Amino acid sequence: MNFHVMTLFPEMIMQGLGTSITGRAMQKKLIQIEAVNIRDYTLEKHGQVDDYPYGGGAGMVMQAEPIYRTWESITNRIGKQPRVVYMTPQGSVFNQSMAEDFAKEEDLIILCGHYEGVDERVLDMIVTDHVSIGDYVLTGGELPAMVMIDCISRLVPGVLNNNDSAEFESFHENLLEYPQYTRPEEFMGRRVPDILLSGHHANIEKWRHEQSVKRTMERRPDLLQEK
Ligand code: SAM
Repeated sequence: MNFHVMTLFPEMIMQGLGTSITGRAMQKKLIQIEAVNIRDYTLEKHGQVDDYPYGGGAGMVMQAEPIYRTWESITNRIGKQPRVVYMTPQGSVFNQSMAEDFAKEEDLIILCGHYEGVDERVLDMIVTDHVSIGDYVLTGGELPAMVMIDCISRLVPGVLNNNDSAEFESFHENLLEYPQYTRPEEFMGRRVPDILLSGHHANIEKWRHEQSVKRTMERRPDLLQEK
């Protein structure tokens, strides 16, 4: 899967995703991430990419032209026009089923805003999906883009090892994951539940499912209502 990130801070994206599991996936070419600097596509002197908002008000707004030209350069180069996600607090809140939907795409373009946001005209022209990572306002779309790319990448075949499969994790069938334990069997007087040491796979599965339901009822009852 190929992620094309349009941003004013490409190093933030590449440094953030170039380590750990996503970094390994990039090295193995299971995913490709390119961060394209919008500033490289401005026609303004001194690399300007933003200006004062018409009608007044605080802050600066990212101009349409450099963003449009960045998008044009990416789409011409790859020879297609994939979905374009604008990271914005005004979008639908990202969740696991959205990640599963995006993971079906071969290419995804992601636009990171900054300052007060982006000139609406270019959003109308190129954006197909408006996505938020939660009901709070951040300084830029780079962290949200990294959150989304990390989550989608885990669903790309081969990115996770077999033993850290995404299949039975939290939000699978709207349930949170059961509690996990590893060695030692006893830590400061607290023992691992006996059932997990029994070797009886059917009973372990049953216990885990019960724990998932119990935990979801306690912590996220809203998920059970969505079922
Ligand atoms: N003035 C905008 C508004 O009120 O909707 C907020 C602009 S915010 C300071 C700057 C940029 O950060 C946005 O263009 C967006 O790309 C990104 N951003 C901020 N919060 C976000 C969130 N919760 N989810 C996704 N992107 C976010």
